[in-house]
Amino acid sequence: MLKVCKFGGSSLSDGSQFAKVKEIVEADADRRMVIVSAPGRRFSKDTKVTDLLYLCHAHLKYDVPFDNVVDMIKERYQAIVDECQLSIDLDAEFEDIFGDVRKGTRPDYLASRGEYLNAKLMAEYLGFKFVDATEWMFFKHDGTVDYEKTEVALKELFDVYGKVVSPGFYGIAPGDKIKVFSRGGSDITGAIAAASLDADIYENWTDVSGILMVDPRIVENPSPIARVTYAELRELSYMGASVLHEDTVFPVRKKDIPVNIRNTNAPSDPGTIIREHFDEESAEENARFITGITGKKDFSIITIHKANMISKVSMLRKVFNICESFKVEVETISNGVDCFSLVVPSESINGKQFEFISQIKEDCKLEDVSLTEGISLIAIVGRQMAYRTGISGKIFATLGANHINIRTIEQGSDEICIMVGVYTEDFEKGIQVLYDSFAR
Ligand code: ASP
Repeated sequence: MLKVCKFGGSSLSDGSQFAKVKEIVEADADRRMVIVSAPGRRFSKDTKVTDLLYLCHAHLKYDVPFDNVVDMIKERYQAIVDECQLSIDLDAEFEDIFGDVRKGTRPDYLASRGEYLNAKLMAEYLGFKFVDATEWMFFKHDGTVDYEKTEVALKELFDVYGKVVSPGFYGIAPGDKIKVFSRGGSDITGAIAAASLDADIYENWTDVSGILMVDPRIVENPSPIARVTYAELRELSYMGASVLHEDTVFPVRKKDIPVNIRNTNAPSDPGTIIREHFDEESAEENARFITGITGKKDFSIITIHKANMISKVSMLRKVFNICESFKVEVETISNGVDCFSLVVPSESINGKQFEFISQIKEDCKLEDVSLTEGISLIAIVGRQMAYRTGISGKIFATLGANHINIRTIEQGSDEICIMVGVYTEDFEKGIQVLYDSFAR
């Protein structure tokens, strides 16, 4: 059995976090491939090492002295080296990285050094082999990942060394150039490593005990989700729940490798498992119906009225053409006999709502187009909802009993998400009462 473990920046922010990681890795002999981020924040106002490295590059670019930023970075690593009693020669490493930096450097190279150094430290601490990402994480000319080449290279290295620590976030592009993923990209490296090695599980260690059913800023102490499918996760993330880097899913999903989100600070918590589907559902999951509740604020509803609309299709086409030319995204659409409504993000029409509405009136030859602002969408997501009766009834009854007016309703045809539009002042309360009625 092989477990690929990725530890995020908050799991590696200082020596005491390093010690937790060591304990986790050593607790399970299957944890033989470790991917690390750069040191993250130790406290809320702290700065991530990656941000300091980008700051260094900005100083260089504008020829502003940056020695104090380098000192800050060095102090972060020195503290870990001291606390974990490591023997790595940090002076030599910093000389290598920053010695010639004034002659010119690329932002990707500098940014990658956060993960590079952390992986070196962690490899020594665990007694694993340090393997640089440049030896196996390959990009193509077009900037996409070269999965075939990457897989062959990592398998070979892993077969030789058996226990490996490698940096996340970057790889090597043609021309021997270091290239980084977008921010948070160590998640992707971990997923690619897990897929390349056909791991049994991809453990993504972070600072929460899995994906929570609902935003903890809205509901106090919500339960974590034990198991979620990729389809549910897409609905939850699209509507605002942020969990993994978006591109993480693809490599592990393709090979049906389960992803387990775990908490470095509470390693005995089981966290959340993400999979394509689950063969059996637990009694608790069956009884609960829903997996999570999320939502987004700041939408507007544009309602287009026309008695005896002759052809709704041509009217819709005209309205969508106008949306396209005004770059207005349509979130949902609902239909009545003599009217239809579009729900659009307010920011996409802000400042141009009057021109937009006038254009609709002019092109569709109608008078009655109304705009309602201050709408928020709440999404109730759950694979258990599909083909089950009574769920929407419960949602509407709960909101109704709490005097929350529903402005729009939408259910996807796979029945795993029901979305309601409410006035923004009811948003938090709506999420709270729905959570109380389904999850508590
Ligand atoms: N260190 C990088 C960042 O801060 C990548 C990562 O942590 O995944 O975005």
